[in-house]
Amino acid sequence: MTSTAVTEQNKMDLAREMLAKLVDRRVLAALEVCVRCGICTESCHYYRSNPKLEHTPYYRAEQVRRVYRQFLDPVGRAFPGWFGAKATADEALSKLAETAFASCTLCHRCTFECPFGVETAEIMRVMRSVATATGYGPEMLIEIAGAAIAKEENADLFREIFLEQVKELEKEVQDSLGSSKAKIPVDQKGARFLYVPLAGAHTIIPQAIIFNVAKESWTLSMFDTANYAVFLGDAEKAKRIAMRIIKEAEALKAQEMIITECGHGYTAMRWEAPKWFGRPLPFRVRNIIEVLDEYIRDGKLQLNPSTNGEPVTYHDSCNLGRKGGLLEEPRRVIKAVVGDFREMTPNRLHSYCCGAGSGLVTAPEWTDIRLEAGKLKSDQIRQTGAKIVVTSCDNCRFQIGELSEHYGLNTEVTSISELTAKALV
Ligand code: SF4
Ligand code: SF4
Repeated sequence: MTSTAVTEQNKMDLAREMLAKLVDRRVLAALEVCVRCGICTESCHYYRSNPKLEHTPYYRAEQVRRVYRQFLDPVGRAFPGWFGAKATADEALSKLAETAFASCTLCHRCTFECPFGVETAEIMRVMRSVATATGYGPEMLIEIAGAAIAKEENADLFREIFLEQVKELEKEVQDSLGSSKAKIPVDQKGARFLYVPLAGAHTIIPQAIIFNVAKESWTLSMFDTANYAVFLGDAEKAKRIAMRIIKEAEALKAQEMIITECGHGYTAMRWEAPKWFGRPLPFRVRNIIEVLDEYIRDGKLQLNPSTNGEPVTYHDSCNLGRKGGLLEEPRRVIKAVVGDFREMTPNRLHSYCCGAGSGLVTAPEWTDIRLEAGKLKSDQIRQTGAKIVVTSCDNCRFQIGELSEHYGLNTEVTSISELTAKALV
């Protein structure tokens, strides 16, 4: 965390200003309504992985409520001792940042169990914004968000590198399909969709193979869908990062934007961006899983599920499933491309977070917290007997790969696109 940008008084003023702006009725209800009944306790993967009071949703939310009272609540400001809110701005904001960033993955699972619908994740999201604005945001997240903005500012330089990389990837796609006609189109005006990958060939090659087989009209984005400013709660940067791709899709007159298998990138563009900009986007936004589901329904892909013969289980990314609404589409595709599919229990809306959500995967100082919080997911995977875990989010993928090693699961982890490309006849 960094605290260099502002003085102690400025931090206080800025924190108050941010809280006054961001604590709307929804967040205020979440701050005020909790009756500490404890019903949500078992819903949190932190608690289920290591049952301690400190790992319960209400304990964590209580830590940030104290800071809120210190900074904004009139009673808390007049009588800080009543709420134990006597810390300096630096102490309070350090605690706020640690709690909001490392002890909650904003997975929203506890809200489902709470009889009052208390949105602990919304409280944490606002507190992340306050911590970031006052100079306490995690450096790694700030750097990654900054790199995405720098890519737009130096687009000409990146374009040359990008085009070189695309040529190499296209060769791999052609070799795989045994056809020099297979293409990875770039800058194709009027293509049906703009496909937005992540950094990494695994989010381009299998998808390009599938699009070529399906004879799709598509073009590849030069940007990637990751938007780490969302994790920071930095709305201005998040808008800038999203706008790079929106402008690209508009310039190419794409009818749709197809987001690769990335949980937060998908929810940010499909559900958050129209709210950020106060208008619907001039194209449809879908996830690639929806496209694969459509291809299979329309008979555009010939598939042999026995190619993926080992037992497979699916981890619902919190962003894609609980927050993004994609629950059945991934299952339909997986069942069409694998021979032995086994569900984890619970799943879909009640799936547990893998422990890496909301940016926890980025910072080395959170490795122990993240691996400990992933124990529950590791137990769920082990119970299925699966040899392959498929998930549609690169952060979950990284975490599940590490969980396999840490807890000796002996499983591989892959994406739905990769399994689909492998099953093509
Ligand atoms: S949102 Fe998820 S990580 Fe955060 S307290 Fe609730 S269950 Fe735990
Ligand atoms: S968040 Fe809801 S379920 Fe959890 S302790 Fe508070 S009121 Fe009870």
